[in-house]
Amino acid sequence: MRAVPLFKLVPEPLDQEAAALPPFKWAGNDIGQRHRLGGSPDFIQTDDIPSCSCGKTMSFYAQLDSINDEFILGDCGMIYVFVCFDCPETKSILQSF
Ligand SMILES: [Zn+2]
Repeated sequence: MRAVPLFKLVPEPLDQEAAALPPFKWAGNDIGQRHRLGGSPDFIQTDDIPSCSCGKTMSFYAQLDSINDEFILGDCGMIYVFVCFDCPETKSILQSF
């Protein structure tokens, strides 16, 4: 498994619809700011790193946070993306509170 270096991802609205989305009403300040590339997954539930169909443990590639109350993933959840650099195959999982 190859570890991807850690990057902070900061979403930037690219159209007026995205720029006009209201923020979360009640969620904590970190919700919506947890986007990241590489490093280690910030699992909300138990660790859940998938295996590739080739049998190798997949590399953590990114986690994508909920956007706002309209585009919320479960209960303030996140999507975790994994990749096998050898195949290349991807898998994603969603965890929420
Ligand atoms: Zn593989």
